Parts: sequence; structure tokens; C-alpha cells
Amino acid sequence: MHEWALAEAVIAAAQQIAEKEKLKEIKEVTIKVGELQQVEEEILRFALSQLKPASFKNAEFHIAKAKTKLKCRVCGHAWLFRKSKLDEETAEAIHFVPEVAHAYIKCPKCGSPDFEIAEGRGVWLENIKGVR
Ligand SMILES: [Zn+2]
Repeated sequence: MHEWALAEAVIAAAQQIAEKEKLKEIKEVTIKVGELQQVEEEILRFALSQLKPASFKNAEFHIAKAKTKLKCRVCGHAWLFRKSKLDEETAEAIHFVPEVAHAYIKCPKCGSPDFEIAEGRGVWLENIKGVR
């Protein structure tokens, strides 16, 4: 279900930008999805196609995966999250609850499980193109 809420948020944000930039027609919208924020791309695409207003009629939606960067709170080491290092069950748990990541992922330098997600969390609007 949350793909629909995401699609609504994306379109609302894109509309705001379109208004600010005085775009009459939107041609292209690029959305970035953080790796830890697993989203069913097909459902998101379908939701976008159903919810898009008239000014988005010919808009192409690009959905790109964003790398997740983690940063250790203890030693400050930053590293990229790699899903392939986790077993399937763990990946599945993270899929549903990103917070679960703390139970499975440890700093590769000092072994601390106390880290923050520095980049690549959530879903955001990367780019929008249109005509005035
Ligand atoms: Zn560390």
C-alpha cells in the first residue's frame, strides 16, 4: 500500500516544482529510491500512472536505486551497504523494517552496531524536466 502514498507524495512534490518553475507540461520525472527503502517498482509505476494529473500526461517516470551509505557513530567510519553480503532472510527482514538493519549490520572497522544511515534513505525526487 505504501507505494500509493509514495506516488502521491512524488506527484505533489513534482507539481510544486512545476509551479515554481512555471512548467506547463512535465516530460520527465526521476525518482530515487534508497536501497534500504525497498519499494515495489511496478506498483509504484502503476500508482504514478493512475494518479498523475493532466500536466503529467506525457511524463516519463524514471525510478533509480540509490546506494545506501552508512556511518559508524563510534569511530566515524563510513561504508556502502551491500545487500549481497546478507542472507536472504535478513534481506527480507530489512525489506520490511529498515530499522532491523541495526541488528544485523556492524561497522566493518570497529564492529559497533551503532551507525546511522548517512545517505540513501527513503525516496526522493531527483530531477524533473518539462516545458514552459
Ligand atoms: Zn566503527
